[in-house]
Amino acid sequence: MKIKNSENSLVTSEWVEYIRNINTEYALSTGRTKKFKLDVFGCQMNERDSETIAGMLTDMGYEEVFGDDYADIIVFVTCCVRENAEEKIYGHIGALSKECEEKGTIIVACGCMMQQPHVVEKIKNSYRHVKIVFGTHNVHTFPELLYRYITQKKRVFEVWEKEDRIIEDLPVKRTEKHKAWISIILGCNNFCTYCIVPHVRGRERSRKMEDILAEIRELAQDGCKEITLLGQNVNSYGNDLGEKDLFAKLLYAIEEIDGIKRVRFTTSHPKDLSDSLIDAMKNCKKVCNHLHLPFQAGSNRILKLMNRKYTKEHYLALVEKIKAAIPDIALSTDIIVGFPGETEEDFEETLDVVRKVQFDSAFMFIYSPRKGTPAAKLEQTTPSEVIGQRFKRLADLQTEIATSLAKRFEGKTVEVLVDGPSKQNPEMMSGRTRDNRLVNFKAEGVEKGAFVDVEIIRAGAFWLEGRGGKKRG
Ligand code: SF4
Repeated sequence: MKIKNSENSLVTSEWVEYIRNINTEYALSTGRTKKFKLDVFGCQMNERDSETIAGMLTDMGYEEVFGDDYADIIVFVTCCVRENAEEKIYGHIGALSKECEEKGTIIVACGCMMQQPHVVEKIKNSYRHVKIVFGTHNVHTFPELLYRYITQKKRVFEVWEKEDRIIEDLPVKRTEKHKAWISIILGCNNFCTYCIVPHVRGRERSRKMEDILAEIRELAQDGCKEITLLGQNVNSYGNDLGEKDLFAKLLYAIEEIDGIKRVRFTTSHPKDLSDSLIDAMKNCKKVCNHLHLPFQAGSNRILKLMNRKYTKEHYLALVEKIKAAIPDIALSTDIIVGFPGETEEDFEETLDVVRKVQFDSAFMFIYSPRKGTPAAKLEQTTPSEVIGQRFKRLADLQTEIATSLAKRFEGKTVEVLVDGPSKQNPEMMSGRTRDNRLVNFKAEGVEKGAFVDVEIIRAGAFWLEGRGGKKRG
């Protein structure tokens, strides 16, 4: 275990400088700048971590490349939330072994998967071309570990078992200028029985409000228009600082920052969503009319087995309260199908919640046991074909609801913040409405980061199609 230093961020910057000197010498003697590439899996927390890793590498004198371009360093930011994600990551890492041998590429593995000892063992023994491994709690030590590898040419494995205090002021290379993710709370205290997050991301630690506001002010000065506040459970923000309702206070404080036009946040735990937060969402004009509120399962028996600490009735009443306060709210959710022992009656309760709430969108997953979680010890009594059929029934129902909810936008004009060319159709531009709907539209001369008015001509479950893209005054 590394001895922690009270000036860690300063230490990080010293290691960054050592490597920058090495890379400057290399560039002067070869006329070439060293390159890095990131392969990022999983949630927005990983996306945000990867911006820090990219920031550190850029400050160390590396240049980012994408796609098939050669990189001297490839960093895998891994995710362990589902088994198929892990398998995919092993596949990506394994595919590089020959290239690494031939070209000396430095492969780095970090992120949630690396917090699991059995994964680190597997990487050590079976993926010998991986040279550096670190975990979610010691991202800031990456420059030091890289320096050790470069100078000693020995594989470096350093995964801190426990979370440390939050390190501020690490370099960051943002993927976008017009919108940004801001971590406000790290870790989770909830221990839902199926979830690996508290085991790999540690307990809740909130950033100080003044640090968050300073980061947002700086982003606003650089032209950022939309921010998304991140945490496994943003509703707990401030509890560990001994403050009640600090998340609502944070929203009111962000409302005062000039330049920021939209504020989003994710994820909210239904047991912690307070009345004062609903009031803040209603009163703050910049807070978008979209809420992601995972309910996971409709059956109280299954919710108890999941340790979700709320009931179906509580969830439905909460949704009613939110809809009454913010009538145009768009709701999205997460749902797990096939939790161990889920009966047809249990599943019907899930369908019932979906019908009653009328979600605008839903992330639906088939339950995947995660080693080290309590649910992984429960016996799965439901055949996989039955789970597959239930998943299809749920997906069909949700698609029908989302399509019918989206239809009301046809013929209407909506405000879109432009993200760039559409992934579905590169001849179109793409962006999001305030209620987080994806809009693909045809328009001339529209730039990324602009707010435009788009007339919707077709509406489906997953995106709206529009035309126009008239720039807002
Ligand atoms: S609230 Fe539950 S599901 Fe969400 S991160 Fe925490 S333990 Fe996992």
